Amino acid sequence: MGRSRSVLDGETDDGVAPLPPLSGVRVAVETPVRNGIAGWRRRPCRVPILMYHRLTLGAGGHPRSLIAERFRGQLALLRELRFRSVLPGEIAQAVRCGMPLPSRLVAITLDDGYLDTLTIGLPLLRQFGFTATCYLVAGRVGRTSDWTIPAPLMGWGEVREWLAAGMAVGSHSLSHRDLRTLPPSELRAEVGDSKARLEDRLGIPVESFAHPFNRFGRRELDAVELAGYRDGCAGVDLSDSLFALTRVSADYGSLGWFRILLVPVYPELRRVYLMVTARDRVRWWWAGQDDSSARWPDR
Ligand SMILES: [Zn+2]
Repeated sequence: MGRSRSVLDGETDDGVAPLPPLSGVRVAVETPVRNGIAGWRRRPCRVPILMYHRLTLGAGGHPRSLIAERFRGQLALLRELRFRSVLPGEIAQAVRCGMPLPSRLVAITLDDGYLDTLTIGLPLLRQFGFTATCYLVAGRVGRTSDWTIPAPLMGWGEVREWLAAGMAVGSHSLSHRDLRTLPPSELRAEVGDSKARLEDRLGIPVESFAHPFNRFGRRELDAVELAGYRDGCAGVDLSDSLFALTRVSADYGSLGWFRILLVPVYPELRRVYLMVTARDRVRWWWAGQDDSSARWPDR
C-alpha cells in the first residue's frame, strides 16, 4: 500500500509529537482464528477503522451510500475532536513493533473504488486534512460494479489522481466474489493476481487487503498473508488477526451514532450486546414467546 502523509510518518499539524518511523522492524505475528465464546477474540489494537462505500450528493438507491453532507459532518467532528488519520498498514506495523499507539487515531477506508470516492470523497478529505485508503477491485477498475447495484468505478487515471493527492490504495480482490466459496487456485488468483495487477498498473507496493463482503476464514487469511500483504481489513466482528482488522461501518446513522463508533471498544460492546441478546432469544424461544422485538445491531 502506498505510504502517505499521516501522523505515524511524523507529519502532524497540531503540535502532537510524532511517533518514530515504522519501517525496518519485522516481527512475525501469528494470525490464529479462534472460535472463542460467541465469537469473542482479542483484537490486536483498538484504533477505530471506519468503513465506507458510496458517497452521494443526494439520497441514492444504493444500499451502502452516505450523503456527502453527512460525510462532511463526520469529518468535521473528527477534526473538532482532534482525531488524526492513520493507514491500516501503519496500525499493523505499529502492532508488530510493539509500539504503543496514541489515542484519537482513526483510519478511514472506502471500499470498491467507486468514482464518487474521488469526486465527492477526496475534496472533503483534503478539506479536513485526512488521509484515507481506497480498496480497489483490481479486475473492475474503470468499469461498473457488478456485485451490487451497478455504479461507476474509478479508472486507472482517476486512481492515480487519488494517489497523487496523498491517499492510499489496497486490494479488494480481482472480481469481488466471496472468497470462501472459491477453489484454491481461484482464491490465490483473487488475492495474489489483484496485488500484482495493481502494483503493475500503479507502480507502488500494494500491501493491504480488504476481504470482499468482509467474509473470510482461516484459509483466506493464510492466502492473504502468503500473497505478501502486510495487513488486511474485515468487518465489525472481532478478529485477532492483522489480516482481518476490525472495521466499523460509518455509512449510516446519525452523528450521535458516529460518536459511538469512535469509542475504541465499540466492537467489544457490540459483541457483549449480541451475546446478551442471544441469551435472551434462547430464553424467549424456550418460553415459547415471540422474540420478533429482538434487535441485532449488525451494522
Ligand atoms: Zn466491497
